[in-house]
Amino acid sequence: MRAIRGATTISKDCAEEIRSSVGELLCEMRDANNLCVGQILCILFSNTSDIVSFYPAKAAREAGFSDCALYSSAEPEILGALPLCIRVMILAEGDGPVRHVYLRGAAGLRKDLRRYAVALDGPSGSGKSTVAKLLSKELGVLYLDTGAMYRACALKALSEHCDFTEQSVEKLCSSLDIKVKYEQGAQHTFLDGEDVSDEIRRNEVSMAASKISAFRCIREKMVEMQRRIAGEQTCILDGRDIGTAVLPNAEFKFYITADAAVRAERRYKELLAKGESVDLEKLREEIEARDKNDSTREFSPLRKADDAVLIDTSGLTIEEVVALIKKKIQEAV
Ligand code: C5P
Repeated sequence: MRAIRGATTISKDCAEEIRSSVGELLCEMRDANNLCVGQILCILFSNTSDIVSFYPAKAAREAGFSDCALYSSAEPEILGALPLCIRVMILAEGDGPVRHVYLRGAAGLRKDLRRYAVALDGPSGSGKSTVAKLLSKELGVLYLDTGAMYRACALKALSEHCDFTEQSVEKLCSSLDIKVKYEQGAQHTFLDGEDVSDEIRRNEVSMAASKISAFRCIREKMVEMQRRIAGEQTCILDGRDIGTAVLPNAEFKFYITADAAVRAERRYKELLAKGESVDLEKLREEIEARDKNDSTREFSPLRKADDAVLIDTSGLTIEEVVALIKKKIQEAV
C-alpha cells in the first residue's frame, strides 16, 4: 500500500475555489503516481481552521474520486501556520515509488520536493558543459548533455557514410537507437547498445553533429527524449535550444557565451590533453563555422531566449560562473 501526501492553498475561503483546487491537486497526485481510481482506498483531508465554506471531501467526490472512502477534518488553529491550506493523504493499493505533490503556497512547505529545470544554452566551447557538470554535483541534480545525443547521431551518420542529404538522414533517423544512462551521476550515451561516450568527443564528430542536428527528423526525436528525461526529475540541460524550444517554461534559463578566440583556445587545450593534435587557427575556424551552422539553421537555431540571463565567460573562471548560477537558483528555490 502507498501513502501519498499532497497539499495546496486557496486565495479565499469560497466553495468554487475549494472545488477547483482540490480537483487539481487530486488529479496531479493521481497522474504523478500513475494511479487508477480503482486503486485508491481512501482519501483523508485536513484543512486549516480558516476554511469553513465547503468540505474538501465533497470536492473530491465532485471531481470523480467517488469510489473510495473520504474523510475531512479541520486542523486546530496554530500560530504562524500557512493560512487557507488543504492537506491530503491518499491511501492506495500497489507499490512503487511515491510522489508527493505540493501546489501553490503549499510548495513552500516541502522545498525538498520542488522540481525545476535549468536551461544552459550557448555556442560551442562557451564552457556550459563544464559548468553544468559542476553545478549538477553541487546541487545534487541530474545533468543532461543534449549535445552528446546529437553527437551520437553524427557518429551513426559517419559510420554509415551518410551524405547528409534529407533523404539519407531520414533513413538513418528511422533506425536510430540512442539511449542515455547514468552511472554514479555521470551520463553515458549509447548508440545501438554500445557506450560511445568517449568516441563522440572526437573533433571529427563535432562538425558532423552540427550538420546532422539541423535536420527536423533528428531534432524531433532528440527533443522528445530530452523532454521525457527532464519531466521525470529536476534536471540541468545544456544545449542550443533548451530555453527556446525544448523547455520554454524552464524555471531557470542562462545563455553562456565567450569570444570565439577564447572558446577555440579552450577546445584546443581540451583536445591536446586527450592526445588529439589540432591546429588552433583551424579550430577557431571550425568553431565559427559551427556557430554559423547552429545559429542560422531553420529548426530551433541557437538563440538566447528572451528571458534567459546572459553570461559572458570570456573573463570569468568556471568557479565564478558556477557560483553565479548557483546563487540565482538557490535564491529562488
Ligand atoms: O554541445 P556540443 O558541442 O557537444 O554539441 C554538438 C553539436 O550538437 C552542436 O554543434 C550543435 O550543432 C548540436 N546541438 C544542437 N542542439 C542541442 C545540443 C547540441 O543542435 N541542444
